[in-house]
Amino acid sequence: MQKFCRNNERKYYRFRADKYYGGIATADCMGCNMDCAFCWSWRTRANPEMGEFYSPEEVAERLVKVAHNNGFRAVRISGNEPTLCREHLLGVIGEVEDLDSSLIFILETNGIEIGRDESYAEDLSKFGNLHVRVSFKTRSPENFEIITGRPKEWFELQIKAVERLHGKVSFHPAVVAEYAGEYLIKRLREISPEIPAKLEHESLVIYTHVKKRMRARGLI
Ligand code: SF4
Repeated sequence: MQKFCRNNERKYYRFRADKYYGGIATADCMGCNMDCAFCWSWRTRANPEMGEFYSPEEVAERLVKVAHNNGFRAVRISGNEPTLCREHLLGVIGEVEDLDSSLIFILETNGIEIGRDESYAEDLSKFGNLHVRVSFKTRSPENFEIITGRPKEWFELQIKAVERLHGKVSFHPAVVAEYAGEYLIKRLREISPEIPAKLEHESLVIYTHVKKRMRARGLI
């Protein structure tokens, strides 16, 4: 993780305008704590020398500029896992709020770090401009390891993240549609009956380079 976080700075490899959420300014960061078979950005992890370090202020300024230039109402950090460099992330969200409080910050995360540490959701709850999207990679611990390259126990950390965000921070869960299933819905319902209705089903885009990785893990 140190390779991507340096003091309060984090490495990014791209800033861009993207079409999702009706148009969103996007900063693509380096570094993830998982290694999903279908990850479109796996090349950035295979090439850690990519990118440059930016402070929270520099990232926020770039995001807000892209949003204003394109008439967008939302900004995000994408590309890899935004929650890894915690102080940096909190700094970026706060700076965006200071620069333009009407912009929504969408935090797309696998939830592992939020599940690991109770105080993370507390920190996130201080922002009024934040919405979190917790992205499940599969429906249960059963195939978690083969899909994410991480121990199956980590599935519980994703569930824990939802538990910790619930009632504190605006959020919704998402799951890769191809691996969705009843067990995940049951677990979300146990946290609160209204959560399953908010579940977003995300379709996989299987790029050529991804196909090879999925085949190697016996997923296609
Ligand atoms: S959690 Fe997201 S960024 Fe990380 S490996 Fe999985 S799909 Fe890629």
